[in-house]
Amino acid sequence: MYKVYKIKDKETGECYIGHTNNMSKRMSSHRCNSKTSSRDIMARNNYDLDILEYDIPDKQTALQRERHFYDITDNVINKNRPIATRQETIEKNRETTRQGYYRKHEYFKEKKRKYKEENKETLKLKRSQIDLCECGSYITHGHISTHRKKPIHFKLLSQKKYCEMMKIWSELLRV
Ligand SMILES: [Zn+2]
Repeated sequence: MYKVYKIKDKETGECYIGHTNNMSKRMSSHRCNSKTSSRDIMARNNYDLDILEYDIPDKQTALQRERHFYDITDNVINKNRPIATRQETIEKNRETTRQGYYRKHEYFKEKKRKYKEENKETLKLKRSQIDLCECGSYITHGHISTHRKKPIHFKLLSQKKYCEMMKIWSELLRV
């Protein structure tokens, strides 16, 4: 037979709801297992143990009863909600992922802003610096990526290539 129980911290009022078919074994695992959510309550060692329901015939019913008490009790510290439905689990995961994406996005946005702020002068200087484009034009660094998309760049580039080709041909013919 299963029981549903509550461990309540007398000082903080934090509650842990659990179920078991072997109370003494379960309590010793609460004391020894550092992974359970009840760890802090057990460590403070100032708690009440209440049996909320006795004589539950099977584990599935015990879980359902545990869920019921989990829902109606304030200040529950269980990490996992008992028998979370598939939908609840999906929603919880989705929320965690969404928060993760948002944090990442904010982090990179802030990093970029900081970099810009700290390197304001260098970036300004770099933008006004004159670069030689492969088409033969002299363009300020800040405009070169725009220039590289313009027809004039492609026109000059093909002319330059044509000239280079002619130079190679004329040298070949001379030999
Ligand atoms: Zn160019």
